[in-house]
Amino acid sequence: MYSDYEGRDLKGMVLRLEKSSIYDGDGLRTVVFLKGCPLKCAWCSTPESQNREIETTKDGSITYGKEMTVEEVLVEVRKDSLFYFYSGGGMTVSGGEVLAQPDFLLALLRRSRFEGIDSAIETSFLGKWEVIEQALGTLDTAFVDLKMFREDKHRFYTGVSNQVILENIRKAGSKDFDNKLIIRTPLIPGVNDDQEELENIGRFLSELPYVHHLQLLPYHRLGTDTYRKLGRVYTLKDVRVPSEEHMEWCRSVIGKYYDKVM
Ligand code: SF4
Repeated sequence: MYSDYEGRDLKGMVLRLEKSSIYDGDGLRTVVFLKGCPLKCAWCSTPESQNREIETTKDGSITYGKEMTVEEVLVEVRKDSLFYFYSGGGMTVSGGEVLAQPDFLLALLRRSRFEGIDSAIETSFLGKWEVIEQALGTLDTAFVDLKMFREDKHRFYTGVSNQVILENIRKAGSKDFDNKLIIRTPLIPGVNDDQEELENIGRFLSELPYVHHLQLLPYHRLGTDTYRKLGRVYTLKDVRVPSEEHMEWCRSVIGKYYDKVM
């Protein structure tokens, strides 16, 4: 059954596979983290996912990245099929940036749909619309980051413009792809949690009928130790984790324009 299908032997650069995740979509999921990302978000909790190449910590004790074929990934994903069945889970492809390996991503999504495995992606949406359109037609849930609205700030904190990202969100949220499109905004105190940013996000989403909802994710400090291991500097070390009261205030500001905010 699995001996011959299109894309079976395509190779991708995989950071790691995580089993039984409950944070990356419905039910229990196998998360396939791909390596390589065109952004460099200052708050990134997986800095080891940014570089497309295999890399090793300064002390040589940990190596990040491994080339795998589509079939090799799916062999691992299929092992938990029973858990997916009972929990409503499946496979989530995450990053890095999944759109940076478009052929590998699409082959994974097509094959999982063919085999009846629920699929989700976590993405910044910085990629070609033609690829995104194909992915949206083949998956069950897309989690898409909308990090901030002001372009100069976006460039400063992520290294890239947000114009393509906003345009892709606008296109995806304007058309019914028969799946769930969930927008996520990581709230970083002092970066994107001011009234103007939040109101802009609310106004933008209010015009997109096919966005399922917006999730506000509080800033956290997971992964900061990995920067040290890689010999890199974590620049947001003075930023505090937002309080629940502040999160509630942020929800209420967005909620004036867009009420499907969690
Ligand atoms: S888009 Fe995600 S993986 Fe890429 S740098 Fe930003 S937080 Fe890290």
